[in-house]
Amino acid sequence: MIRQYELVETVKGYDPNANESLLNRAYVFSMKAHGSQTRASGDPYFSHPLEVAGILTDMRLDSNTIITALLHDVVEDTGTTTEEIEELFGPEIAKLVDGVTKLSKIEIQTESERQAENFRKFLIAVSDDIRVLLVKLADRLHNMRTIHHIKKPEKRSRIAMETMDIYAPLAERMGMRKLKDELEDISFQQVNPEAYDTILSRLEFLREKGEGIAEEISKGINNALKENGIEAEVFGREKTPYSIWSKMERNHIDFEELADIIAFRVIVDDVDTCYKALGVIHKNWPMVPDRFDDYISTPKRNGYQSIHTAVIGPRQVRIEVQIRTQQMHNISENGVASHWQYKTGGDKNEGVQYKWIRDLLEILDQASTPEEFLEHTKLDMFQDQVFCFTPKGELISLPLGSSVVDFAYAVHTEIGDTCVGGKVNGRPVPLRYQLHNGDQVDIVRSKVRRPSPKWESFVLTGKARSSIRRFRRQQQRGEFEQLGKTLLERAFSREKLDFNEEALELAIKALKFSSLEDLYLDVGRGMTSDQRVLTAVYPGVKFKNLQKARPEPIADWDLYEDDHEHAIPIKGLTPGLAVHLADCCHPVSGDRILGIRVKGEGIMVHTMDCDQLLEQTDDPDRWMDLSWQSYGEEPEFYTGRLELIVVNEAGALANIAQITANHGGNISNLKMPTRDPEFFTMIVDVEVRDSKHLKGIITALRALKVISSANRM
Ligand code: MN
Repeated sequence: MIRQYELVETVKGYDPNANESLLNRAYVFSMKAHGSQTRASGDPYFSHPLEVAGILTDMRLDSNTIITALLHDVVEDTGTTTEEIEELFGPEIAKLVDGVTKLSKIEIQTESERQAENFRKFLIAVSDDIRVLLVKLADRLHNMRTIHHIKKPEKRSRIAMETMDIYAPLAERMGMRKLKDELEDISFQQVNPEAYDTILSRLEFLREKGEGIAEEISKGINNALKENGIEAEVFGREKTPYSIWSKMERNHIDFEELADIIAFRVIVDDVDTCYKALGVIHKNWPMVPDRFDDYISTPKRNGYQSIHTAVIGPRQVRIEVQIRTQQMHNISENGVASHWQYKTGGDKNEGVQYKWIRDLLEILDQASTPEEFLEHTKLDMFQDQVFCFTPKGELISLPLGSSVVDFAYAVHTEIGDTCVGGKVNGRPVPLRYQLHNGDQVDIVRSKVRRPSPKWESFVLTGKARSSIRRFRRQQQRGEFEQLGKTLLERAFSREKLDFNEEALELAIKALKFSSLEDLYLDVGRGMTSDQRVLTAVYPGVKFKNLQKARPEPIADWDLYEDDHEHAIPIKGLTPGLAVHLADCCHPVSGDRILGIRVKGEGIMVHTMDCDQLLEQTDDPDRWMDLSWQSYGEEPEFYTGRLELIVVNEAGALANIAQITANHGGNISNLKMPTRDPEFFTMIVDVEVRDSKHLKGIITALRALKVISSANRM
């Protein structure tokens, strides 16, 4: 275990601005807070945060990161609150500790590649500060180093899989190769111990066989460079068992010689010398074609820079050589973490120095200066996405602004088709509710599949949109058939004839339909009139009573009953499919209505007093008597349109919105066609349950001081 003064001295050694007393306070605070807790190894728990801090001091991270490492488990595992941390260590550290605590609470299940990718993105999206991720990775590294103390093999392998799927790739993306290699290697050993042992014994064999070869080759290269006046550090680095294994799996490569598993590194002072060294190496040994890469002029996306080449080197063996500067080397080892080292290292060459950070920023899709990135590193990566959980903890990623319906369709088409409501974090929300990062979404479903065409106005994802449309087309067909059947039933009963499907066989034949469904569909769509069907069944009979089907538009309204004798019930039909609620008069349930048949589209529903009807009097055969008959099984909403004349004064609109909301109405659209100094006209669409509901709202609005008049349009 590192001692307190050692830790403080180390940090002070590379960070002259380190807050010594705060470091000391964090050390003592964490030790006391964890008290007598122990690790699986039997060690005092405090050894863990201390080791995590140690890993991060090796990367020379700033003192606030080190303090966060010391404190990273106190909120999660002891009685300490975030408020206490803030009081003792200030807001910045409190925020960092809180960030790490949040990450620890995320339960990760990786059932697929896609899942793992989503989780990595999620971790990044919820980490405001890149230092949170650095502490989390160091935390994971120490837990992996001590994983052998965990007794249950299933638990070990679960943690190892998670490390392999989530944290190692995350480290790689952040350019932290050293950490990534170690995480992968320990995980590999846990997940596939046989393979690990196989590679290890192969390595052992090659090492014995190639005794001294690595030193000999390094020396050979170094001498050649010296002869040309180049000072360099040359050494061979053995690949890790896991990287050998995965290369074998990927490329079916054999490893015959030690040189096959050692990459030689040539570290020089500056970029210029890198290219000079390359020249010397290619001059002395034949180059292997197709193995040359210049990542200095074109760095990798995570900032990695180096020249890669392969030659038939000393002792006539094929070797891989990587040429780089010391700084490139540090970055290749520690990636994101290493730029703290260069922050205080002077200003020379700053443009080049931070170039890779800028490249990283580009990936992060964020426009801020590298300096900001260093100081605050707001990670805006994946900010165009939102990550939510199913109740089972599966992670679903959606475009930002997605609704509960998008979520339901993302889980499964069937779930989307049957969703009627949602609960977010246990709280009921409307279907159009926009999801936030980390929301747990529970979909409330009905037994029937019934996506509403209205959802199209707020869904974002293509899957939801196309599913709704596809369903709508299917359903429309079904509703046309239902409507067609109802129309024929009514026509038969009007004529006091028995309605039966056998009788309709005659019509199917005479009118050349292929099935009963097709006949219903055609009648429902208004392509074939009921009179034509009647005549086909009873050729030669004259039907006199047709007139009765037509209601009088200017009837005595007080005699109106919703389920009068010949009215066609539109119960169960969805607005927008076979029946359409007219835009001119916005009928709502409970209104006195009648329908106009529109060829190919079904029935347009108008209120009995709609002005539009007067323009259609020349074709009375298309009119029909309709009734709602407790229209719809589930609570439906209708849009009523109001015209308000409003006194032009401050707060009028707020007043109107308030009263409407108080009465359970929802304003879905609002227009102000005219406005003068004293009054303005407002057209308001209000979603209501039925005409009674709408009347209630109108009455309440009329009672307002700012309302001069309120009427349905
Ligand atoms: Mn921990």
